[in-house]
Amino acid sequence: MQAIRMGIVGVGKIARDQHVPCIAANPAFALEAAASRNAQLPGIANFRTLEQMLDGAPELDAIAICTPPQLHYQAARLALERGKHVLMEKPPCASLAQLGHLKQLASAAQRTLYQTWHSQHAPGVASAARLLEVCQLRRVRVTWKEDVLKWHPGQRWIWQAGGFGVLDPGINALSILTRLIAEPIFPRSALLLVPANLEAPIAAELELLTPGGIEIGVSLDFRHTGPQTWDIDFETDQGPFKLSAGGAALTVGGQPAPAEAGEIHGEYGSIYRAYAELIAAGRSEVDARPLELVADIFLTGKQVAVAPFEEPRS
Ligand code: NAP
Repeated sequence: MQAIRMGIVGVGKIARDQHVPCIAANPAFALEAAASRNAQLPGIANFRTLEQMLDGAPELDAIAICTPPQLHYQAARLALERGKHVLMEKPPCASLAQLGHLKQLASAAQRTLYQTWHSQHAPGVASAARLLEVCQLRRVRVTWKEDVLKWHPGQRWIWQAGGFGVLDPGINALSILTRLIAEPIFPRSALLLVPANLEAPIAAELELLTPGGIEIGVSLDFRHTGPQTWDIDFETDQGPFKLSAGGAALTVGGQPAPAEAGEIHGEYGSIYRAYAELIAAGRSEVDARPLELVADIFLTGKQVAVAPFEEPRS
């Protein structure tokens, strides 16, 4: 069978770290083009814009959108209108209405729209889901604390409106929660700390609640310089368990849980396997719940101005 001919839009950190190697490792795909204003990838056709890529490489079957989230909707819309399958990085769009519209466009164009949440593919998450099938969840504590200067250097978009600020990594944790908890999750209180010179939060303290009474505390912080922490602690009627390293590791009662079959591909290996399957089956996958939760947090949250934050000049 012919490989799916791929183009990448936005050659930045995640495109280089994950998309390029995972496409290369999956024989269902062949990376043939990239569209990026400044960056180029070796050995393939390079264009400055998506429009130029669609005109210059009309044979492409599918694209992956790896630009900042403020630009995802326009790129996905254009690609779907030009008959391409579309994979979108998280967060999918700057608004829920945009995501709904893309879903309609993909359906009308009979093309696959795969709107990804990479943390849902983290190796420990499927095992955690199986644990929760046989116990009663009572309380959850999310601690997502990282140094923005280490993980997002120079990414001005993350501080601009629609860039999500600390909710950009935070939505990864929330996407794990929505994968594991079927009930609706509402914000009970949300405190968003926004540097006086920026447009998006640098830290957030959230209290979330389900109708069934599961209490979820969330601490997000971009100013954290100690050990970097992406942990979720679960308290159940049968004892505690913990997802750490962003969902990569699961410990039950302090002991590491063995990885299950099918969990060895890593987040993006799993994503590209799913993308190929969705295209082959003529289906789309769109899960708006994490974005809805973040929208509710911004709607109901209290925003407090804190000290200006400047990235040191290198
Ligand atoms: P990034 O390093 O800033 O890369 C994005 C690229 O998009 C830029 O290098 C830039 O390349 C291009 N771009 C096009 N228009 C742009 C504009 N107006 N402003 C800034 N860049 C523009 O960002 P990233 O970390 O790869 O993140 C991209 C997406 O992936 C985001 O939605 C993010 O949430 C998601 N993601 C990131 C990570 C991570 O670890 N970094 C992990 C998972 C998901 P040109 O200058 O060449 O156009």
